[in-house]
Amino acid sequence: MLQAEIKSLLKEDISILIKVANSGKHYLCDCGEASLLTVKEIQTVSAVFISHTHIDHFANFDGIFRHQIGSGEKVVICGPKNIHHQVEARLKSYTWNLIDEKAIEYEIREIVSKEEINVYTIRPPHWNLELVKTQNFLFEDEYVNVDFAILDHKTDSIAYLFKEKDTVTFHENASDFKKGKWISELKTAFESNDADKEIEIEGILYKASELFHLLSRNEGYKLGVIMDHAVDEINYQKIKSVFINADLVYIETFYKDTDQEFAKINYHSFASASGKIMNDCKVKQAVPIHFSRRYTEDDQQEIETAFYKAFRN
Ligand SMILES: [Zn+2]
Ligand SMILES: [Zn+2]
Repeated sequence: MLQAEIKSLLKEDISILIKVANSGKHYLCDCGEASLLTVKEIQTVSAVFISHTHIDHFANFDGIFRHQIGSGEKVVICGPKNIHHQVEARLKSYTWNLIDEKAIEYEIREIVSKEEINVYTIRPPHWNLELVKTQNFLFEDEYVNVDFAILDHKTDSIAYLFKEKDTVTFHENASDFKKGKWISELKTAFESNDADKEIEIEGILYKASELFHLLSRNEGYKLGVIMDHAVDEINYQKIKSVFINADLVYIETFYKDTDQEFAKINYHSFASASGKIMNDCKVKQAVPIHFSRRYTEDDQQEIETAFYKAFRN
């Protein structure tokens, strides 16, 4: 199960921590001010996902690497075009004479297009970028796959979908066979679609496909984070193609409906537009985030009311 925690207070910029239940794994979405983010949490972040580098989403990046350097770990940073140069510029703006080259390694994945991801590494103390390769997927580890959409916010703004890996359940009561190592062999055959694999149970050989009915696939939890984006049809097509049927999505809702002319000027979203696109995507749960800092708690309530009205409609 994936869980998300908003680590910013109302008047702060945005930062969301995603946790994989029962693991020490954390992913961080955007680096706005985040009073609620602890040093310990920062130190267990294995990947940082940046939507775009407007200052309200990237200002606290220094505060993040401040607590990561010295860990000796490899940390992945995903972000839009040019993210590698922006990370490099931030790192190079400090003096690192007392830090050795094994203190940390950042692997930066620059999203050029849906199919083109440039992978760079950068290490202390000189922080010189090295292009390692170009790949056609963004991120995968033992727990999740991360899909994304490149949205228009007058600059690229990456919306991320964290998809927990599917799991396979064995239905114990569906047969009279004794339990044994054949169950894990069958699961492996099932996961790799190897229908002809021979499975031995109590001295008898079976074709895996004859036993597949003892298993079922449980689709992994899908959690999305959609940051700044303009209200427009092309963005919405992209959002629908990635976030359809997601379990939980956090979505930028910067303006109240009554301020929607500002949303248009600034390539942002507003309450009922964000609620409606979440409804169109048939997501199970949606949460509006990232409100204009000039808004009061009453304004926030107004946003939430309009958002949920459009979402649940
Ligand atoms: Zn922005
Ligand atoms: Zn923003």
